[in-house]
Amino acid sequence: MATITSRKEDYSKWYNELVIKADMAENSGVRGCMVIKPYGFAIWEKMQRQLDQMFKDTGHENAYFPLFIPKSYLSKEADHVEGFAKECAVVTHYRLKNSENGNGVIVDPEAKLEEELIVRPTSETIIWNTYKNWVKSYRDLPILINQWANVVRWEMRTRLFLRTSEFLWQEGHTAHANEKEAIEEAERMLEVYADFVENFMGVPVIKGVKSPSERFAGAIETYCIEAMMQDGKALQAGTSHFLGQNFAKAFDVKYQSKEGKQEFVWATSWGVSTRLIGALIMSHSDDNGLVLPPNIAPIQVVIIPIHRTDEQLDAISKIAKDLKIELNKLGISVKFDNRTEYKPGWKFNEYELKGVPVRVTIGPKDLENNQVEIARRDTLEKSLVNIEGLSVYITELLQEIQNSIFKKAKERMNSLITPVDTYEDFKKVLDEKGGFVSAHWDGSIEVEEKIKAETKATIRCIPFDAVEENGVCIYSGNPSKKRVLFARAY
Ligand code: AMP
Repeated sequence: MATITSRKEDYSKWYNELVIKADMAENSGVRGCMVIKPYGFAIWEKMQRQLDQMFKDTGHENAYFPLFIPKSYLSKEADHVEGFAKECAVVTHYRLKNSENGNGVIVDPEAKLEEELIVRPTSETIIWNTYKNWVKSYRDLPILINQWANVVRWEMRTRLFLRTSEFLWQEGHTAHANEKEAIEEAERMLEVYADFVENFMGVPVIKGVKSPSERFAGAIETYCIEAMMQDGKALQAGTSHFLGQNFAKAFDVKYQSKEGKQEFVWATSWGVSTRLIGALIMSHSDDNGLVLPPNIAPIQVVIIPIHRTDEQLDAISKIAKDLKIELNKLGISVKFDNRTEYKPGWKFNEYELKGVPVRVTIGPKDLENNQVEIARRDTLEKSLVNIEGLSVYITELLQEIQNSIFKKAKERMNSLITPVDTYEDFKKVLDEKGGFVSAHWDGSIEVEEKIKAETKATIRCIPFDAVEENGVCIYSGNPSKKRVLFARAY
């Protein structure tokens, strides 16, 4: 029962319909801002819980900083303000008043703020203005802080989850005594992201470093994980920045070293956002709806009874409830959908759309045969399984689904990495196949910009594992030592 446009017909329409029909999010009355509905938010909560634990396991603590940033703070780091200036929401007044003609309210011109406030697009400036007071000596370092928050970037072209004007994210902001420690931290957090995205979301990524023009505004180096969507377009899934001493210098954050010298502090910042939900959808889902890896699915197992009489429902309910208790004990989330106002067919469709990894169906015949029907969402395969040992079977099946979803996505990503040696081939691959195109680039911003203008492809990253080889830039013919990955991206 297909209820959404197929990917082949219109990938973009498929995505939008899926997000709405799976009840994850919807557009709001505010341009570019979305409403995240309970089912979408439950996925975000699972992501948050897991990431939060991973941050704590690597020594970080959570804190909270203000939503508003005085304009003068944002201006202190020149590259930073230049990068974000074009997409800032600015608060200029703090009061409304009744309009004189009685038609509603207007901004009270007398309530103009002395200094305008920026709704945070990211929090480096407000945080480094605070760290100035926290850091005096080497004993105060490192500071390892994470914040869960919303940010606003006035995006012109928005898309549910993938790019919104307001989005939810976490931002880590750390302060260190030396360069080496800060670089290690930035690298460590990229590894944490890669681990999370691959092993929990089942989305394979390529780890690497951004080219100068794609670098975070104010960073010395931006490390990133890049993912490949089913339509051959790339998606930046997470970033970790080595900020050097840029923000310490802008906000005068110094510490006294063991040797008694005054030194500027070294910084990192790193973030992932609700965009990850978009990555999750676009990586695994199919024309029937969402496909969720068990580790991130709010409901991992749904049990649906099929019955004619109340007696049958009672007998099925007993088995279902016992199974639910057993699975819950193993840490598996289960929904027993015994609502009688919906038909089984409707429920099948609903949970398929919502990507619940395992469906257990129990009918009167199954009771007689001491078995149930198990359907897995990823492959749509069905099998009859004995009630004895069912919870062990389901536990193993969930693991198998998790592995298999990742494997499938990884094979697809690998098949979408194409090395090319000429600009002709480069354009051909982009147009006919898409995906990552691995090509030599001479390292210049001009070439990067020309390629972008001519093909819409950007350098997604210079992979960490790129091998050194002597090559020539596909565009300029200048020498190049490494291949980089280009792609059209979300
Ligand atoms: P950045 O601070 O620019 O390095 O971004 C941090 C994270 O937020 C990255 O993983 C980005 O992909 C993601 N991100 C950036 N802009 C948006 C947006 N408009 N909507 C959702 N996620 C975003």
